[in-house]
Amino acid sequence: MSSNEDLALPKALIVDDDYVMRMLEQETLAQFGFEVVEAADGEQALALLDEAPPDLVLLDVEMPGIDGFQVCRRLRQVWDMTRVPVIMVTGMDDLASINQAYESGANDFVAKPINWPILGHRARYVWRSAQAARQLSELKEKQAAMMRAIPDMIFVMDWQGNYLDYKEGFATSAFVAASEFLGKNMSVILPPDVASTIQQSIDLALSRGDLQSVVYKLPMPDGVHHYEARIAPNGVDKVVIVVRDITVQKLNEDRIRRLAYFDTLTGMPNRQSFLERLDHELLRARRGNRQVALLFLDLDGFKRINDTLGHSVGDYLLQAVADRMKEKLRASDFVARPALDESGLHFARLGGDEFTVVLPDVDDTQTVCMVATRLQALLTRPFVIGAQEIAVTSSIGIAIFPADGEDASMLLKHADTAMYHAKDQGRNNWQLYDQSLTTRTSARLALESDIRKGLERGEFHLIYQPQVNALDGTIVGVEALIRWQHPEHGMISPAQFIPVAEESGLIVPMGEWVLRRACEQVGEWQRNGVSIARVAVNVSARQLRATNFLDGVAAIIAATGIAADQLELELTESILMDPEARQVQGLYRLRQLGVHFSIDDFGTGYSSLSYIKRFPIGMLKIDQSFVRGLPHGVNDAGITTAVIAMAHSMELDVIAEGVETREQLEFLQKAKCPKIQGYLFSRPLPPNAIEDLLRAGKISLPPPPIDK
Ligand code: C2E
Ligand code: CA
Ligand code: CA
Repeated sequence: MSSNEDLALPKALIVDDDYVMRMLEQETLAQFGFEVVEAADGEQALALLDEAPPDLVLLDVEMPGIDGFQVCRRLRQVWDMTRVPVIMVTGMDDLASINQAYESGANDFVAKPINWPILGHRARYVWRSAQAARQLSELKEKQAAMMRAIPDMIFVMDWQGNYLDYKEGFATSAFVAASEFLGKNMSVILPPDVASTIQQSIDLALSRGDLQSVVYKLPMPDGVHHYEARIAPNGVDKVVIVVRDITVQKLNEDRIRRLAYFDTLTGMPNRQSFLERLDHELLRARRGNRQVALLFLDLDGFKRINDTLGHSVGDYLLQAVADRMKEKLRASDFVARPALDESGLHFARLGGDEFTVVLPDVDDTQTVCMVATRLQALLTRPFVIGAQEIAVTSSIGIAIFPADGEDASMLLKHADTAMYHAKDQGRNNWQLYDQSLTTRTSARLALESDIRKGLERGEFHLIYQPQVNALDGTIVGVEALIRWQHPEHGMISPAQFIPVAEESGLIVPMGEWVLRRACEQVGEWQRNGVSIARVAVNVSARQLRATNFLDGVAAIIAATGIAADQLELELTESILMDPEARQVQGLYRLRQLGVHFSIDDFGTGYSSLSYIKRFPIGMLKIDQSFVRGLPHGVNDAGITTAVIAMAHSMELDVIAEGVETREQLEFLQKAKCPKIQGYLFSRPLPPNAIEDLLRAGKISLPPPPIDK
């Protein structure tokens, strides 16, 4: 087959005992392009054949010793007719020896007397056809080997889908045994949908004359198998179909898909698949002029559960929530409308404790709200986790396409905003997105960046409100209160910016600035010759959670040189509820330095006595909301009296805040409240005004009005 072999002259072996015959034969074959070797008898011929096989043998039948028939038979034991073709030279019309020649394995014969030119042509012809036959059989062998190596099944079909031929593949087995389908039409063998898809591709392959491919699946005894069929036209009315079993590949793809598209914890679709699904639904909705609702659900207080019960309980709860959603949302009775049955609702877990539900084809908002209500009801049934029952509530935000957003990211953003609104409304409720929420959000963002700039530009300052002895007005301390002189909006109340600072985390640098500024102020007053017993600084929960807060306090005390017991930190009740013990340790360390702690707005939270005892608290501040109702409000009076009595019994100091009237003062004096803070004595004042008051040492009330 290689070109070298083609270029070399074919080698012919002439075997004849007659010298003249050999001469003539040699001459003739040489003329016809053979390289000739001669043998004078059978023995010599066999010896030469053993050395190397020639490409043609011209063999005389009648020879002394081993005759031509024997030589041929022996030769055939080693070489077949395609490798070493043999032409026998027989006597004229000797039919018996012609027969014998064929029987002993000759390819052809020539009869004596020899027609020399014809001998040359015949020799070349026999040689060529043997060569062609050899190449053909080699090709067949190669093809067979290749076929064996192909894992695929190969079918030959006519244009109507009748099975004509079949080769099995080592890795793919046919739907039914070949004997059952050969000669039949695939429509009676394969499931109708598969048969018709294949038939369509056959039509296409034949009409276009190109390769088609189809993927389909079939139920096999060991489960569903996936196949890929490539259909190639074979002539004008037949096709060759190569079928490969792609089940394993398909399973791998599915697994990869699952990993990429499903949340591993809950098995729910993840954010990625949610977004694709939503995109898809929006596309449909746009075409069909329909609405799509997006519900954004967030569990209430999930962080608390995680922190107090541990992450494994948290994970378990998320799984349970997901399972319940899947199970119940699937049930078609969940929503009494056929359009919203199991195929209609798509849920996903976006991450953390955030879940989404997409409702395609929404006609009215009422249905959406009903789904939200049911969803919430579904989750309030307690979850049993180990020995405990956990009840969770959730907040849901709803955004509806197209009114609330044109694309997936806008809808998601707005559903999220609505969800936050639901949280603000006290949790465990749902809220529809409303344009004003976004306005509020962006106003909030603007405020946040203004605060950041304000901190950099020094737009904040502190004012101080005196705290006095309830009996004689002696100043016992001041509370530092932050003020913001905004360059455009003027004075902004802390009630407005403190919540934003807390949410954004800006309260951390802001609080640190307040603390430093207040301590510096104490130093300045001291240098001006007035000393202050105590400056109270407000600390929000978020600040305390910052890891280096407590070290920061100690550092500021050291840097400003004030005595640690001149500083009081006002904590909120929520700090007491925070389970992280680390803070308690740190608070005790600061207490040992001398720093005081008080609980601000006492009575508004739910802290119990046992909580307070765990912390180094020295004073309770009775919230102004109770003081406001004094002396006539029965509840307020009762609570105020009880708090003061309780504080005394626990040896805690007490201060009443927001005291504005003499009646309030008198009530508090009678109830033995030792300290007072409020407009009655003084509004919060700038440092120099405080300095004057401190010099006086006490604040005297004007004499009470005479006629009353
Ligand atoms: P708060 O800690 O309860 O502070 C007392 C608030 O009551 C102050 O309001 C004060 O001006 C006001 N007040 C005092 N006496 C009276 C009175 O007789 N009648 C009435 N109606 N109000 C009185 P302000 O300064 O507007 O502060 C509001 C809140 O902002 C503070 O409440 C506190 O929670 C927060 N805040 C202020 N400064 C800071 C700060 O530096 N850091 C932190 N984290 N929060 C601060
Ligand atoms: Ca305060
Ligand atoms: Ca307060």
